[in-house]
Amino acid sequence: AKEAGRGGHAFFERCMFEEAEDNRLLEQDVRQALNGDGLTLAYQPIIDAATGAVVGREALLRWRHPKRGDIPPDQFIPIIEDTGLIHQIGDWVIREACAEAVKWGEELRVAVNVSAAQLTGAGLAKTVLGALATTRLSPDRLELEVTESVFLGDDAATLASLERLRALGVRLVLDDFGKGYSSFGYLSRAQFAKIKIDQSFVRGAAEGARDCLAIVKAILALARGLGVETTAEGVETEEQARAMRRLGCGQLQGFHFGRPVEASQLSDDLNAPSRL
Ligand code: C2E
Ligand code: CA
Ligand code: CA
Ligand code: CA
Repeated sequence: AKEAGRGGHAFFERCMFEEAEDNRLLEQDVRQALNGDGLTLAYQPIIDAATGAVVGREALLRWRHPKRGDIPPDQFIPIIEDTGLIHQIGDWVIREACAEAVKWGEELRVAVNVSAAQLTGAGLAKTVLGALATTRLSPDRLELEVTESVFLGDDAATLASLERLRALGVRLVLDDFGKGYSSFGYLSRAQFAKIKIDQSFVRGAAEGARDCLAIVKAILALARGLGVETTAEGVETEEQARAMRRLGCGQLQGFHFGRPVEASQLSDDLNAPSRL
C-alpha cells in the first residue's frame, strides 16, 4: 500500500509539472497569436423570442493554434487570466467587436464577455470609451457580460468599475444566471440590463423537470419585476425554444438559431460580399 501511495504521489507531481510546462508554452503561443491573426472572434445570434428577428450577437473568442488546432476558450482563458494577458486580449476583443458591430443594422447589439480580472481597475472603462469613440458605435449597442464570479471577491473596486462602465451608457448583462444557484442578491449589486438564463435550466425546464421549471419561472418573474431583459442560453431544439417562449423569456440564443461564426460568414446584408 505504501509503494502504491508513493507511486501515486510521484505520478501526481509529474502531472502538475507537465501541466505547468504546458501552460507556459501555451502562454508563449497565445502572445504570438495576439500579434498575428491566430485569435479571432466568432459571433452567435441572439433572437427576439416573439418576432424571431436577430437583435444582437455575442462575440466569442476563438484561438486556432498552429499545431494543436482549435483550443476552446474554457481552456485558454484561465491561462491568460493567470498571466495578466487577459487585459491586452480583452481590450482587443472590445475594440474588434465594436468595429464589427458598426457594420450591422442600427438596432443590432454586440455582447462581449468580460472576466473578473478585467474589472480590477479603471482600464476597461478607458478601453470601452476609446472603442466607442473610434468606431462611433452607440454605447447602448454594446453589452458587457459578466458572471456572478465578479462579485465573489466582494470588492469595492469591481463595483466601482461596473458602475463606471454603466455610466458610459453600455449595458451590463449577468451571464450564466442560475448556474451555481446564483444568489438573487447579486442582481442588486449592479444595475443590469439583462439576465442570461444558464443552459442547464433551459434544458431542464423544456424536459418538464419541476425544479428547473420553478427556477426559470422565478427568474423570469424577478426579471419582469426589476424591468430587466432575459435571454435563454443554449437553446438547441425547437421544443426548448417553444418552452422558453411560453414561459415568457424575451430572447433566445443557441445552436437551434445559429452557431458562432466568423464575421466574414455573417449572413447580414451589409456583410455579404456585393454581387454584380
Ligand atoms: P458563455 O459566455 O456562457 O458563452 C456561451 C457558450 O455556449 C459558448 O461557448 C457558445 O459557443 C456555447 N453555446 C452557444 N449555444 C449553444 C448551444 O445551443 N449548445 C451548447 N452546448 N453550447 C452552446 P464557447 O465559445 O466555447 O465559450 C465558452 C466560454 O468562454 C464562454 O461562455 C465565456 O465564459 C468564455 N469566453 C468566450 N469568449 C470570451 C472572451 O472574449 N472573453 C472572456 N473573458 N471570456 C470568453
Ligand atoms: Ca456570455
Ligand atoms: Ca453564458
Ligand atoms: Ca459560461
